[in-house]
This record gives sequence, structure tokens and C-alpha cells, in this order.
Amino acid sequence: MALIVQKFGGTSVADVERIRSVAQRVLATVAAGNQVAVVVSAMAGETDGLVALARELGGEQPDPREYDVLVSTGEQKTVALLAMAMQRLGNPARSFIGAQIGMRTDAAHTRARISSIDTQRLRKVLDEGAVAVIAGFQGVDDHGNITTLGRGGSDTSAVAIAVALDADVCEIYTDVDGVFTSDPRMVPKARKLERISYSEMIEMASLGAKVLQIRSVRFAMRHGVPLHVRSSFNQEEGTWVVPEEEVMEGLFVSGVTYNRDEAKIRLRGVKDLPGVAAHVFTPLSDAGIVVDMIIQNLSQDGSTDITFTASRGDYAQALAIVQEVATAIGASVDGDDSIAKVSIVGLGMKDHAGVASRMFQVLAENGINIQLIATSEIKVSVVIEESHTEAAVQALHAAFLEAGASEPRPEC
Ligand code: ADP
Ligand code: ASP
Ligand code: MG
Repeated sequence: MALIVQKFGGTSVADVERIRSVAQRVLATVAAGNQVAVVVSAMAGETDGLVALARELGGEQPDPREYDVLVSTGEQKTVALLAMAMQRLGNPARSFIGAQIGMRTDAAHTRARISSIDTQRLRKVLDEGAVAVIAGFQGVDDHGNITTLGRGGSDTSAVAIAVALDADVCEIYTDVDGVFTSDPRMVPKARKLERISYSEMIEMASLGAKVLQIRSVRFAMRHGVPLHVRSSFNQEEGTWVVPEEEVMEGLFVSGVTYNRDEAKIRLRGVKDLPGVAAHVFTPLSDAGIVVDMIIQNLSQDGSTDITFTASRGDYAQALAIVQEVATAIGASVDGDDSIAKVSIVGLGMKDHAGVASRMFQVLAENGINIQLIATSEIKVSVVIEESHTEAAVQALHAAFLEAGASEPRPEC
């Protein structure tokens, strides 16, 4: 008998028919002799609707405590409905919201981090032969306030529950067949990967592949929980997210990702003195703005230009903050929020030369101008004009991942 955590995303529980078929699927796993804890998202579109409502009454930045109380209700609906559906099919099931299973988090509303889970109640339900149906995306802080874990957070709830219960596997059921070499909705020739390493998946998730929330993969890697990403619409094997040494395919590039949630801000004519960067970035971090790429160049006149990127939602606030700093230090500012970041990710880049230059060539051949570049051991990212996103992703996929793609030189 195995203990399995199964997480179903929004499309998988989009309506009563889908909920009924999820109930049947879970009960087939139970009938095969396993204990199952299920984590569910809100119905597709529900969270977006709740966020829109919050903004309508609470403004662009609604009170975070009340926002969490509101947006967490989407999952409360689906757990109750799924438990009812299973009971109707003749199997005991019990629903739980985060607070009922002691899903403790810190107090960072809208992006809380899980600190502990009290598994006693869950174990009791499972040992009684019932299915535990748990609301994803939410927890409770030390003062009893409801918190949420950030968009896509049910993945993280599922992995945390798998860790706490010491589950054998955490299955993530979604609306595609697994993790693909690129977003299958943008690249028709993208193909499903049988396996991908935790580290590549972390890069892909952080660079825009929203199939898994990045924190869920970090959590799984830290605790060695195998993740199986698969479709809730068929019985096919999906993609296993596993340690590096278990990935056999040996692709030097495993994925092409894009992120349109980007904006860039440039400061020009900054005096080249110690402390200037701290002067620019401290007020941004004090305001809770997460900065992504930072590029600093020395101009011929001895002053420097500093360009950075941040999430598009933070653009207006970041621009206002930087404007103030610029006035104080005599620099000028401009910005652009119609950019996108396109990246290639792959473990094989560690020991193959020429991957970045091939990427730049492909973009040049397609007339796409590169505005910024960032690299790490297993990724190369470029910032381009947003309108070129699809063309860039498709061209890079063709160049690195489709038939006839050229292999770069292995490093000696
Ligand atoms: P769920 O509601 O099940 O959590 P999400 O919408 O969060 O599902 O994530 C699944 C979506 O992720 C897919 O529909 C797909 O468009 C998108 N996606 C982006 N990049 C990839 C990728 N590399 N592989 C698979 N899916 C991807
Ligand atoms: N319902 C939440 C969202 O839409 C959490 C999740 O689905 O993972 O972001
Ligand atoms: Mg998701």
C-alpha cells in the first residue's frame, strides 16, 4: 500500500462533470489499495474572478488580510464538492480547509510561506479508510489569520503535504500531458519530456513555465519528493521531476520558456561612486519590489547606466521610486513595460560551448533585437520587445529541440 498525494488544478475541477470524474479517478487509486490525500485548486477562472472583485472594492492594492480571506474561498468550494462526489460514489471522504489541518504559514499575506503542518487529523482520516480532500493555496498564520501562498500555490500545498505525510509520490494533475519542451499552447511542436531534473524544472518555472509553481519544485527537491506531472484527462504517464542523476535523455537544452510579466527601468548618467547601487536598490527592496536582472555599464564620460527588470505589476511603483532617487542623484530615468524575457534552459549547457552564441544567431536571423542578456550555469535569458515573443520562442524551439537541431560542441 502506498500513500499518494494527488493535486488537481483548476481546469481539472472546472465544473461538476469534471469534479465527478476526478472523484472516480481518485477512488480508482484507493481501490488499488492506496491511501490518498487530495489537494484541490479553485475551479478554473474562480480565483481570477475573486481577485477582480477584490480590486473593484478594495482598489489596486486591496487590504492583504481581507484579500486572502476572499481569494481562499475558491478552494473551499471545490473541496466540499469533491468530498460530496466521492461520498456519492460510496467512499468516505472528508474535506479540510488549510486552518483545519494546521497548515501554518508566516504572516506574509498573498505570498505566505508554509512553516509546518499538523498531520494528526489527516492521518486519522486516512487510517479510517477515507480520502482527505484538502484546500490548496491557503494556510493560517500564528494569529489565526487566513493566508494564501501566491498564484499557483496549490502545487506548493500539495508538495508540503506530501513531505509532511512522507508520501511515496506527489502527483500533479493538470490540463496538459506533462512538462513539455516549451509551452504546448504556444509551440505546437513542443514534446513531452519523460523526465526532467529538479534544477532544470526550477529554472523553467522561474522563467515562466507556469505548469508548476517554482516553490513547489524547490520544496520537492529539498525533501526528495518525486513529482509526477500528468494529465487529468487521460491515463498516460506524464513527466517525472527527479534528481539530476536520474535524467537519462541527455538533452543539452531541455526547454524554451517565456515570461511576459516583465518591465525594465534604466537610469542614465549615474555617478560612478561606491554606494550608488545601494542608493538605487534599497528603496525598491524596502517597498517589497523584487528586482530580477541588473545590468550596469560604464559610459565613455565615466558615468554609469544601470538597467534592471521587475515584474510588470510593480512597474509604476518602481518607476516612481527610481524617479525620486534619480532626482536626488542627478540622473535621468526611462522605462518600458512592453518587453518579454525568453530563455533556454538545460543541464547540458554546463559542458557544451556555443549555446548562447547559437541562441543569439537564431534571434538575429529572425530580425529580433536583444535588449538585455543574463546567463547562469544552466540557462540563457534575453529580454526582447514583447511583440516578438511568439516568434522568438518558436524559432529557438526549432533550432534547439526539433528534428535537425544542431548539437553544439561538447567542452573538453
Ligand atoms: P493548473 O490549473 O492545473 O495548475 P496551470 O494553468 O497552472 O494548470 O499550468 C498548466 C499550463 O502551463 C498549461 O496549460 C500550459 O499552457 C502551461 N505551460 C507553460 N509552459 C509549459 C511547459 N513547459 N510544459 C507544460 N505546460 C506548460
Ligand atoms: N487557485 C489559485 C490560483 O488560481 C491557486 C492554484 O490554482 O494553484 O492561483
Ligand atoms: Mg497551476
